[in-house]
Amino acid sequence: MRVKILGSAAGGAFPQWNCACPNCRALRAGTFRGKARTQTQVAVTEDGRCWFLLGASPDLRAQIEATPELQPRDGVRESPIAGAVLVNADIDQVLGLLLLRELQPLRIHATASIRRILRENNNIFAMLNRVPQQVVWTDITPGECFCLSTVAAQDSGLHCETFSLNSHYPMYVGRSAGLSPQQSSLGLILGVSSGPRMAYLPAVPEVDSSLLERLETVDLLLFDGTFWSDDELIKVLGSGATAREMGHIPVSSEVGSLQKLKVLRRPRKVFLHVNNTNPMLDESGPEYREVRAAGWEIAEDGWRFDL
Ligand SMILES: [Zn+2]
Repeated sequence: MRVKILGSAAGGAFPQWNCACPNCRALRAGTFRGKARTQTQVAVTEDGRCWFLLGASPDLRAQIEATPELQPRDGVRESPIAGAVLVNADIDQVLGLLLLRELQPLRIHATASIRRILRENNNIFAMLNRVPQQVVWTDITPGECFCLSTVAAQDSGLHCETFSLNSHYPMYVGRSAGLSPQQSSLGLILGVSSGPRMAYLPAVPEVDSSLLERLETVDLLLFDGTFWSDDELIKVLGSGATAREMGHIPVSSEVGSLQKLKVLRRPRKVFLHVNNTNPMLDESGPEYREVRAAGWEIAEDGWRFDL
């Protein structure tokens, strides 16, 4: 299995268009020791030809242009991208679907609740279903395993395990009746049968013992690195929500992910979905050194893992 990180920042990217936090300001001034990043986007393949996107980021068009493996090969209209798996309905995880609207056949795996939010409550997504055999929507049942396949039902060789991580829907969803709390936010574990496995968890509200058990079975862990501290946005903006209120366990502190995931022995541990305010992006700072000393890496756009 090959895993490409096309984007590694949280929503808004780094730098963010309207942000003048110390990180964004220093990056624009050319004095920042660290990399710019586009919004989180991961792509996976088993054979190097048939690719699946994990989520669909608002930066997807530029991310595809920066990734030759994902560009058209034969014919006038063609794409190696066979489909996508949606882990939640956050804008930075679904907006990119609209950029894939040019009548390309795709299979989109999503929970029934997320499918309903997009197809029934947001009719702009009807552009994905203008003609038959454009986008085929396949329901994910959290807790079940499925095979990623093309619209033509060709098996990609990739298996995907899913589990619920949260019960909250994004703010724009409002109070729609009939949405299942278990279907709001998923963790994914992907792999080939009896081969290496990768976990993708860009939004994790809490780490408990069952999650730890799951994560000890994987070889590569891509984990929520959104915020360094629970009050990070409040410190920068003077008001706002805490990391936990936004569904993200912070990296630091006794109850943060660095500490809670310290017991994991097997996986290579990589933070992604890093917010532009997060001080660990600064490679000259103590937070970056602490993360690296704990054996973690911080994903950068363009990274590739061969498992
Ligand atoms: Zn910023």
